[in-house]
This record gives sequence, C-alpha cells and structure tokens, in this order.
Amino acid sequence: MKAIVIGSGLGGLLSAAKLSGSGYEVEVFERLPITGGRFTNIDIKGYQLSTGALHMIPHGPKGPLAQLLREVNADVTIEREDGMAFMRIFEDIGNNIYEDVPFAKFGKVFSLWNRIKLAFLMFTTRKNPPKDRSFAEWLSRHLDAPLAYQMADAFCGWALSLKAEDVPAEEVFEIFENLYRYGGPGVPIGGCKAVTDALADVVRNNGGTIHTEKEVTEIITEDGKATGVIIDGKQHPADLVISNIGHHYTNDLCKGVETDPEYQKYLDRVKAIKPSAGAKICLAASEPLIGHGGVLFTPSARRVNGINEVTNIDPKLAPQGKHLVMAHQTTKWDRIPYLDDEIDLGIKDLEEIFAGKDYEIILTQSHYNGWPVNRSSSGSDIGNTTPIAGLYVVGDGAKGKGGIEVEGIALGVKNTMNLILE
Ligand code: FAD
Repeated sequence: MKAIVIGSGLGGLLSAAKLSGSGYEVEVFERLPITGGRFTNIDIKGYQLSTGALHMIPHGPKGPLAQLLREVNADVTIEREDGMAFMRIFEDIGNNIYEDVPFAKFGKVFSLWNRIKLAFLMFTTRKNPPKDRSFAEWLSRHLDAPLAYQMADAFCGWALSLKAEDVPAEEVFEIFENLYRYGGPGVPIGGCKAVTDALADVVRNNGGTIHTEKEVTEIITEDGKATGVIIDGKQHPADLVISNIGHHYTNDLCKGVETDPEYQKYLDRVKAIKPSAGAKICLAASEPLIGHGGVLFTPSARRVNGINEVTNIDPKLAPQGKHLVMAHQTTKWDRIPYLDDEIDLGIKDLEEIFAGKDYEIILTQSHYNGWPVNRSSSGSDIGNTTPIAGLYVVGDGAKGKGGIEVEGIALGVKNTMNLILE
C-alpha cells in the first residue's frame, strides 16, 4: 500500500513516520526547500528562532505529542520545569510594581466571595462542562472581576492565539482537563527543529522518501476516492492521500467533486473554519528576563499575552551566556490589516514589562491566512476525514478536541491512524 503526504509540517511528518513504520510505502511532498513547516528553527545571529512555534510543547514530556513521538521511536528529549507558569499582575505599571502569581494559584487575586464561587465552579464544571457559549460569556455569567477576563484573554491568547470571546467554553474546559491529566509545557532540547528532524529521520529509516521543493497542484480523485496527486504536471498514484495543509487548501486541490451533495455539505463546514492569527516578538538578552523555563502570562499588557525564555531549559538555543525570550500576542481578525500597529503596541508592552533590562529585539513575525498560528482556530476543527475516500487531513487544521496546538495535532494524527490502520 502506498501513502502520499502533502506537506512536511509536524502533522505530515508524524503521519508519515507512523505509516512508514506500519508497512506503508510513504512519499512526502513539500513545496518549500526545508522540512518542518511552522515547527522548525531559523538561525539568526546564533539565536534559534522559529518559523512559527515558541519552542514549547503544551503538555511537555507526558502529553499526546510526546507519547506519539515515543510510539514512532523519534529521538526527542522534552524537558519541563514543573510549576513554572506565572501571571504577572501589575499594581503600578509606571513604577514597575507587580506580583508574579503562580498559575495554579491564580484565584488568590480575587475577593474571598469570588474565590469561593470559583472553587465551586471548577468542581461542578469538571462534571458538567458548559455548552453553546464562549469562554468569555461563561465567565461573565459567573464572576464579577475584570481581572478574570484579562487572565482568560492572556491564557487563550498565549495557548490558542484567540480572545476568550472567540473560544467555545467547552473547548477551554477540555483543555483544562488535559492540563490536569498531562501537566504543563515543556521544551524540546534543540527546539522545534529537533522534533521535526527526528521525525524526518524516522521516515527515511523506515524506507520512506521526503521530497522538498515539490508542490502538489492537484489531488486526483476517481469515483469519490483519492487515487494520487499531481506535481509538475506528473501523476503520482497512491492508495491514500494525507494532507497536512488544512481542509480549506486541501479542497482547493480537489477538482470536479463539488457537484456531489455530500461534498457541498462538507464545503459549508470548511467555509466556517477561520485560522487564528498572531504575532511574535523575539528578544536577545544578556541576562535572564524571566528566569525560568515556563510561561509568564501578562494579563495587564495591552497586547502581549505571554512570554517564555526557553534558554533556561536549553541554553544552546542562544549564543553562550545569552538568552532567547519570545513574546506572543493574538491578533483579532479585524486587526490583521493593522499588524504593524499591533506589533508596536506589543513592543511598548515589553518596554514596560522589562523596564531597565538589557535586551534587543532581533525579529518580529506576524502569522495569518496561509501561514497562521492555527489553520483552524481551536473549537472550529471539523475532524480528519473528508467526503473523498482515502483522503485525510492532519495538522493544526484538523486538531483533536481539547488539544492545544501541537498536542491537538498529535490527537488528530492518532485519530487518523486509528481510522486507517485498525
Ligand atoms: P504546517 O507547519 O502548516 O506545515 C504544512 C506544510 O505543507 C508546510 O511546510 C507547507 O510549506 C507545505 N505545503 C503547503 N501547501 C503545499 C502543497 N500544495 N504541496 C506541498 N507542500 C505544501 N504550537 C505549540 O504547540 N507550541 C507553541 O509554542 C506554538 N507557538 C506558536 C507561535 C506562533 C507565532 C505560531 C505561528 C504557531 C505556534 N504554534 C505553537 C503552532 C504550531 O507552530 C503549529 O500548530 C504547527 O507547527 C503546525 O503544523 P502542521 O502539521 O499543521 O503543518
């Protein structure tokens, strides 16, 4: 049996590694000269920046991605510093007076009455998660504390690149459940590239092939089944096609299927998917700016949602003695035309948060449309199957429920492999 994978991002490589280890002949086609998609490193002045991710795996060494990497024998080490997530609450931003509140004890900033309500809500919602409303709507019904909305926006902005008003409450509670189950984030030693390179090695060691600078221009379908792809005008037959480019772009590659009523229903669901947008500001520092390898959430900031300093876990991600600090901020869809202004506001935030510290901005990046933070914003994923038999979608355009970013990719790949291999 032959499988073709379109795209060598994390989801494509995870699928290729699993299928090539399960007896499939696998070929991966990537349009860029490099593999890894939005999960690989870019070296700038000796700092390991990235094409997308902030070198963080949301549930560290115990989460779904780590489990899948072990399952396919990818040689990756993921380390985490337990308990290292804080909310920086400013009392007086001008005079730089703040408290770093541990994420697990965020309730302590609220009044006694709100703390009691919160404890009750956390207990009851684990059994009966709320449905049919956004996380922000759910909060506004239960808590009368403006800081709670800022904290919710900081968490959703950092983890999902969305405002709390744009995420279904149900999805957020699934995410909390996974945080209880698997714990907080970790950093792969060597950064994102270490993960995608290790997977590419697995694919090649299993006899698979990865082609770069090969763009798939069409998915061939016959009688409602995917039978191969076209690259440079040449047909490449296959029994299975796995697309790593989201439902929207996958659909653009399928010709002559739109008249099928089932396909029309699918297209309506595809049209409702919105990618999540965001911006990243990368800092080079001569001293630690946050001093740990976890996350510093910044609910008081105008735009920045959170910051990490991965060199506290892997010092080799920066030149010797230096630190790599990355700040992430979500961009609301209506602000995409004003990205420069959004990034300027993020830079102002950092000037206040790190007042008096010695750092330099080495790169700012914005991510939207075809190179977004997530191809399908969390809560709007529509699953891994398509109406075309033998055509599956993996990656962050088809995440599993409650899966933050690459954990969602791993859950989606697991789901797809269960459908194909069992
Ligand atoms: P992609 O990376 O989208 O790869 C798809 C590949 O397909 C690309 O290489 C593309 O070139 C190729 N391709 C496209 N069209 C074709 C075609 N027609 N033919 C052949 N090839 C094609 N996640 C985390 O877990 N932790 C984080 O810290 C984190 N931070 C992030 C910060 C930012 C700023 C961004 C942008 C993302 C972040 N993410 C994070 C999300 C994470 O980076 C992505 O979810 C993940 O890398 C996406 O992987 P994917 O499998 O969907 O594939």
